[in-house]
Amino acid sequence: MVSPIVFTGLTLDQANATAKFQSDRGAKVTVKADGAGTYTVEVTELAPGSGQPAAIAPPTFSQVADAMRKIIAQLNADQPPSLALKQSLTAANQKLLAAVDAIASADVVAAAAAVGDAAKQLQDIIDSGTANVDSIQPILGSLGIAVKSPGAAVPAQPPAKPPASGGGTTGGSNIAPSFSDRVPIPPRNQMNIGLSACKESTMLAKFGRPGELTRDCSAAKGAFLSRVRQKFDVGPFKVTGLDYAVESLLQVFSDVRKDNQLLYDQVKNEGMLCVRARRHTQDHFSNHSWGTAIDIFFGTEVVPQGAGLAHRGNLLLSPYFNQHGWYWGAGFSGDSVDSMHFELADETIARIPSEPMFDAALVPQPAAAPAPAITGFQVDPKAAALLGDIVALIDNAQPIRQRFAGVSFAGTLSSGQLAFQSELQLDTDGWPDGKDRGDSTWQPDTTLQYTDGSYVNANAVPYFVLPGSWFSQFGIKVGDLGAIVYKDKLAFAVFADVGPKSKLGEASLKLFRQLGEERLRLNGQVINSGMGGGVTTIVFPGSKPDAAYQNEGELLNYIHGRGSALFAQLGGHMPDGFDQV
Ligand SMILES: [Zn+2]
Repeated sequence: MVSPIVFTGLTLDQANATAKFQSDRGAKVTVKADGAGTYTVEVTELAPGSGQPAAIAPPTFSQVADAMRKIIAQLNADQPPSLALKQSLTAANQKLLAAVDAIASADVVAAAAAVGDAAKQLQDIIDSGTANVDSIQPILGSLGIAVKSPGAAVPAQPPAKPPASGGGTTGGSNIAPSFSDRVPIPPRNQMNIGLSACKESTMLAKFGRPGELTRDCSAAKGAFLSRVRQKFDVGPFKVTGLDYAVESLLQVFSDVRKDNQLLYDQVKNEGMLCVRARRHTQDHFSNHSWGTAIDIFFGTEVVPQGAGLAHRGNLLLSPYFNQHGWYWGAGFSGDSVDSMHFELADETIARIPSEPMFDAALVPQPAAAPAPAITGFQVDPKAAALLGDIVALIDNAQPIRQRFAGVSFAGTLSSGQLAFQSELQLDTDGWPDGKDRGDSTWQPDTTLQYTDGSYVNANAVPYFVLPGSWFSQFGIKVGDLGAIVYKDKLAFAVFADVGPKSKLGEASLKLFRQLGEERLRLNGQVINSGMGGGVTTIVFPGSKPDAAYQNEGELLNYIHGRGSALFAQLGGHMPDGFDQV
């Protein structure tokens, strides 16, 4: 019998590195990266007397987080799962939470066992006929496990049960874990994937100098102040920080709350905006200086900087922050390791608009921002998978000369469609309850009307807005349809409202929701915040029916049916089981 092997110091500096090191008891270990976020750990030789050589491929933090996200998506689907399925999915999610803990403790065996338990739970769902293979396979796929047909044996993925010797860190304890427990920080290659700490040069270039470089918090100064929102309610607490950052936190905690109410209830904040130097490199500004970083803790005591430990709650929160483009300070090196610290990543800061994204009434607009240079059509792999052959059509599109702020590309396809890639601003027009709900430009009416003269409800109908008169040169009419792709989301929508001449990239509350960006708070108030860039819109001229739309139901059916047909004809790919209504 052998007791669990603990590997320490697992750090890889480069995505494609191979690293070798020894475990605490002399096992020789090789870590190989495939460059796409998957790391293979091989134990090639164990110390004498400790048993046979073994090959273990433990699950990674990101694999487990990805599987959990897919489970949550099913639990929160527009058509909720049956009670039985809900219970089974929730149980599988619990096992995955245990796996996260085990990975954080570098307990390879326990992590694999917990993932195995989750896999068995998921396989049981298929065997019991509660759900079909197609809905479960993607979850198992994230974990690198193939599903078996109904009735087949349970996947043989997990290695043998953890040994029963004392000192093991696997389950069996009856003491409920606390969010303020201090747990080891995961290896750096298992968090912050695709995200980097934000460089001071990026912040200075985007927002300017935030004030004086003092040791303790000093007054914020400069133009970026117009973007700072004071005492903004992000759910569990109020914070003062940059507009984009506080709105993003609201989204983070809204996601957390859906999955884990206890975690949401217990999270605490130790401060956001504070103009000061970094603690360890005092000639540089901390990112707290612009209000794009926040310190989070649980219980009564924070985890000090430099401690190689994290509150269990921070560990559980980190995938949510990462998903919303926040870098976790647990990934800093040496004395700078800061597990309570989350900041908007360098990649995220680069993406957010240089001008405020919110109500003119709330935030003063800077003087006429110049239109950014056209940077060209760029598409991430998930969006490319949905767009299929349309990517090539857009690459060969005839560019449109007129420039719009926030638009990286606009052109016409050889088959006549208009395509553009942009940020989206939020439109709540036509939403009957929209008055005084947070969008100061709300109007009860939309350009498109039903036959009885009523308007299109922004909270119920996915629609987009095009600039006045500009659209007609492409043969587009109000009522035509479009397909919108953002990352792994696809939605169809109707052109329902004509907007200002200078603005391209605006969409209804419902379309935002279908693209994965909820803008309606639980209290019914709108979060008046845009999204993107990188949102691809394709408009189909001549796609509106001859007769006017009679009512919302008919319009929704038409958008879905005709929209998917047009998108598929052009070479787009519908995701499996796609059903947006
Ligand atoms: Zn901090």
